[in-house]
Amino acid sequence: MSASRPLCIHWFRRDLRWHDNRALHAALQSEWDVLPLFIFDETILGSLKPEDPRVTFIHETIAAMKVESDGRGKAFCIAHGKPKETFEHLFAQHDVRAVFVNEDYEPRAVERDEAIEALCQARGVRFEAFKDHVIMAPGEVLKPDGLPYTVFTPFSKRWHANLTEEALRPAPSESMLHALVEGNSSSMPSLESMGFKGSQHQIPACAIDQSVVKSYHETRDIPSIQGTSRISVHLRFGTLSIRQAANQGRALNDKWLTELIWRDFYQAIIKFFPHSVNKAFKPAYDRVPWEWNEEHFERWRRGETGYPLVDAGMRELAATGFMHNRVRMVVASFFCKHLLHDWRLGERHFAETLMDFELASNVGGWQWASGTGCDAAPYFRVFNPTSQWAKFDPQSEYVRTWVPEFEDLTYVKPVVEHKWARQRAIDTYKSALANPT
Ligand code: FAD
Repeated sequence: MSASRPLCIHWFRRDLRWHDNRALHAALQSEWDVLPLFIFDETILGSLKPEDPRVTFIHETIAAMKVESDGRGKAFCIAHGKPKETFEHLFAQHDVRAVFVNEDYEPRAVERDEAIEALCQARGVRFEAFKDHVIMAPGEVLKPDGLPYTVFTPFSKRWHANLTEEALRPAPSESMLHALVEGNSSSMPSLESMGFKGSQHQIPACAIDQSVVKSYHETRDIPSIQGTSRISVHLRFGTLSIRQAANQGRALNDKWLTELIWRDFYQAIIKFFPHSVNKAFKPAYDRVPWEWNEEHFERWRRGETGYPLVDAGMRELAATGFMHNRVRMVVASFFCKHLLHDWRLGERHFAETLMDFELASNVGGWQWASGTGCDAAPYFRVFNPTSQWAKFDPQSEYVRTWVPEFEDLTYVKPVVEHKWARQRAIDTYKSALANPT
């Protein structure tokens, strides 16, 4: 790699693929050769446990991308450090003219990107950001008065009305990789050198199973079968393109496409209402006096509540890093309503354990379940974990897989009694909302 020749950088973050990558494509079309960059960001890694399986997934993905760039004789810069220091180092080493990124709407990512953009400006380097991991960016789906939507159904209608073919067109980045900088890649930092251990979690295939998508409207609520696509981890890290998914949704099943629109919806909520990461979307709900009972929290976490569907979900999560959507709704509701625990603690636990953890969808899901969010279920509608089990796992196939002892006398007794806990939740919410103190 020549140090004097001007170049631009494409910085990979949640877009870990060479194909259909908008910012990478724009960089490859520029007048400069492109140096691809991935940073194992110390700030993010520092908050994770050594056995975090997502780091293994990212590490394996970057290693596979590097094999591809090595095979083409192209350079791939893989760093371990803080973004600002990494860029300062690269600016000192090379004649960098521009930095290309795909947008990220999470509040911390926005802050990080603002800092790098300011650094670029100070050095006379162009900084360009592109929409990539959503179909419709926050701001592309607004109410007629220009304000963001806070209710899903009208958002979804406007989403469809504003959708253009351009939004769904793949960016042919893979066909232009000849414009990457020639040379050797930097060596990959090992997981151990960064303080992590390898994980054995099975990752679903990075592919959309058309037969699953076609029958999704009939199978999506049955946790014992593979009735959902299982692509969430790939959408999270961008190993799969959202445009590919949305085109399949349009062709095969509207109901499935609607799930992708929920994803866009929550991305818009987090962008326009960043306070919702830490506070109830509806401020009055911050008055709910949450309980704290360590034993109850631990029993929920370990899947020992005595409610088989809740326990099955929590054990599936611990063992695989995944939980079926229907069961996520039940365990989250149980946590906030039956145990009356603060939704933020449940959200944090999911954030630490879900392979597909994505701040916007996770906060959205938790605030929905606790009744504190935009477009949430009303607080007095409390899921009954036993009737949910009867309805969605009538033969107990899912429960038997994860809680084999559920019919034995040794199975734990319920941590709280349903009828009592339901009434306590309703009364507590009601009085908190009625008393503005
Ligand atoms: P499918 O049902 O096949 O859907 C396809 C894709 O649509 C998903 O991969 C996902 O990207 C998107 N999607 C589906 N449902 C939703 C939804 N309700 N909200 C937003 N996007 C959706 N999803 C995450 O990706 N990350 C999270 O951290 C997350 N936390 C959640 C927490 C709670 C309490 C709840 C109730 C839901 C959460 N979800 C989260 C949404 C949903 O459970 C998962 O996206 C889904 O289970 C992933 O499985 P799948 O890929 O088979 O999805």
